[in-house]
Amino acid sequence: MRNLLLIWMVMCSLCRSAAYAVSAADLATRDGEVAFGQAWLKTTRERFDERVDPFCIDLLETWLIRLKNQFELGSVPITALCLNGIDFNAFAAPGGIIGVNRGIYLDLGSESEVMAVLAHELAHLSQRHHYRSLRNSEQLSTGTLATLAGIVAAIATRQGQAAQSLIIGGQAANATSALAYSRDYEREADRIGVAALRQAGYQPEAMSKVLRILAEKQSQSTQNLAFLSTHPLGIERQSDLDARISQIKNHKEGTPVLTDSDFQVFRCLQIEGLEPLINRSSNLSCSRIHSVLKQYRAGNYHEALTLFDELPTRYKQTFSSFDLEIALTLKTGDFDRTESTIDTIALFFPSWLQPAIASVDLAIAQSNPVLPRAIREHMIHRPERLDLWRALSRFAQAFKQEHFLFEARGWDALLHGKFEAASTQLKRARAAWPMTSDQRPLDLLEQAITKAKTP
Ligand SMILES: [Zn+2]
Repeated sequence: MRNLLLIWMVMCSLCRSAAYAVSAADLATRDGEVAFGQAWLKTTRERFDERVDPFCIDLLETWLIRLKNQFELGSVPITALCLNGIDFNAFAAPGGIIGVNRGIYLDLGSESEVMAVLAHELAHLSQRHHYRSLRNSEQLSTGTLATLAGIVAAIATRQGQAAQSLIIGGQAANATSALAYSRDYEREADRIGVAALRQAGYQPEAMSKVLRILAEKQSQSTQNLAFLSTHPLGIERQSDLDARISQIKNHKEGTPVLTDSDFQVFRCLQIEGLEPLINRSSNLSCSRIHSVLKQYRAGNYHEALTLFDELPTRYKQTFSSFDLEIALTLKTGDFDRTESTIDTIALFFPSWLQPAIASVDLAIAQSNPVLPRAIREHMIHRPERLDLWRALSRFAQAFKQEHFLFEARGWDALLHGKFEAASTQLKRARAAWPMTSDQRPLDLLEQAITKAKTP
């Protein structure tokens, strides 16, 4: 019951806001999809258990962009959301929004398998399954779309039961058919997804393996799996796919974003604190990495760093480990190490925001009240990245720089669809902003608020 209540709250938050009124026509164009998706994200974001982890977001973005190039997604921007959900779940919402629960890393043992899940989701987007389903449904009302948004939110916030109730409940029949993709659409997403997976240089068999994992989970689980409720699984789906894979010949394997050792470390970091599992493909036990994290969480930073330094080199010399090393050395005061590790990540991934955000935390640890220039650049180009504003907020609090705090809170509010609060924070930022400082950051925030308010 409580879950259902949540859904109604989600839906109503969507229907009462005039700025978010949508029609079928709005979803008919790519621009419309993006507008709908971004508006939907703003209203529902607060209910996600978001993992505002720059490394995770950068990596997910990199994976998605690599795959996106294989689809006809044109200029649709990618919004990557790392979520704390422990269920096996990933979702795609119109307008390039992809959310991934950290729970998927309990079962997936390689980058190829993660890419298979992402390729399937991107295929739903490129084939516009949301829109096509809605168009096919008899009646398309704002209420239907709101219900659809509610279901997506319920799934993303791990309210699998609530989503299920809505799906089963007749009141949401239209929206359900839109989100719980039909088996035809599932097969289409598998088919198009597997081709994209191959073109991106990954083994097509990974898609088949993911379907097997899901089938196993379905047979073992007494609970309804949220992922399965929106992605119905049938035996025929698997055999269709296997037949197709056997036709794919001479595929050339590319270089993954992360090496296998790197992926294994990333996986371990993601599943911290979750039930240990019997993983089929991992050759790394996470126990040593989890021991490092345990000491870190307990505030025993030097012990944590000692344990980290004792890890085998092939795991220590990975980007995922570098991310951990930055966190550890910031606490132990080994700032030379922090700095060179930040530089290494920046060198290999020049577009990533993580190094700039880490530099902010380094400035804080070193009591250096100068905001690193690189982060300001990112704020201009990527203001939709929540992790940037959270970093600015930490910096502002550390050095009692109110104007930055108001700026950061303004963006945070805006990204959560709280326009009034965003305007209030902007006013405060303007009042506190030093006369001699560049005013452009405030103009940017003002423009973004105005734009978001305009339907
Ligand atoms: Zn699907």
